[in-house]
Amino acid sequence: IYTQKIFTGSRELLIDKVSQALSAKRFEHVLRVEEMALQLAEKWHVDAELASIAALTHDYAKERSDEDFLREIEKKQLDRDLINWGNNIWHGVVGAEMVKDELGIAHEDILNAIRQHTTGATVMTKLSQILYMADYIEAGRDFPGVEEVRTLAFDDLAASVGWQTAHTLTFLLTQKVTIYPGTLLTYNTWSVDK
Ligand code: GDP
Ligand code: FE
Ligand code: FE
Ligand code: FE
Repeated sequence: IYTQKIFTGSRELLIDKVSQALSAKRFEHVLRVEEMALQLAEKWHVDAELASIAALTHDYAKERSDEDFLREIEKKQLDRDLINWGNNIWHGVVGAEMVKDELGIAHEDILNAIRQHTTGATVMTKLSQILYMADYIEAGRDFPGVEEVRTLAFDDLAASVGWQTAHTLTFLLTQKVTIYPGTLLTYNTWSVDK
C-alpha cells in the first residue's frame, strides 16, 4: 500500500523491521498508534501513508542503550545540551536520526513528527500534531480524561495538543522530574489562553 517511495519497501517490511527493534508489548502500542493516527489523518485530511510511517517508526529507538544515543548525539553533532537528558527525550529527538539512517526514511515532515512526539514543539505540522495525539490517546491508553481528550482530538486538534501538554506537564510536576525546556515552550504556545 506504500506508493510514495518514502520507505523503500512495503508496510509489511517496515512492520518487520520495527517489530525486531522492540518488545512485543511496545510493538503492540506502535500498531495501536498507527490505527489512531490513520483515523486522525482521515479526519484532518493528512496523507495516510505519512501518518502510517510516522506512527510505525515513532518509538523505533525507544529500547536503544544510553551509549547508542550519546554516540549518535556526537556523530550527528546534535545540540550539546541533549547529553544532560535521557531516554524519554532522546528516543524521539535522537531516535529520528536512527530512523533516517537505519530505515532509510528521509522525509523531513516524518522525522520532525518523530522528533516532536514526546514534547511537542512551538511549530507543529498537522502530521506532527496527529502523531503527538495518537501516541497519547491510542486505544490502550487509560487515564482520567482519556475519553474527553479522544473526543477533543477529533473536534479541535490544536486544542487537544494543548490539553495533552497541560496534563503531561501537571503530571511531571507531581513526579518532581526535570522538565525539558521544549515541553515548556509547547505549553506556552498550545495550552495558554491567548
Ligand atoms: P511513549 O514513548 O509511547 O511511552 O510516550 P512518549 O514518547 O510520549 O513519552 C515518554 C515519556 O516521556 C513519558 O513518560 C512522558 O511523561 C515523558 N516526558 C514528556 N515530557 C517530558 C519532560 O519534559 N521531562 C521529562 N522528564 N519527561 C517527559
Ligand atoms: Fe515515545
Ligand atoms: Fe507522546
Ligand atoms: Fe509511543
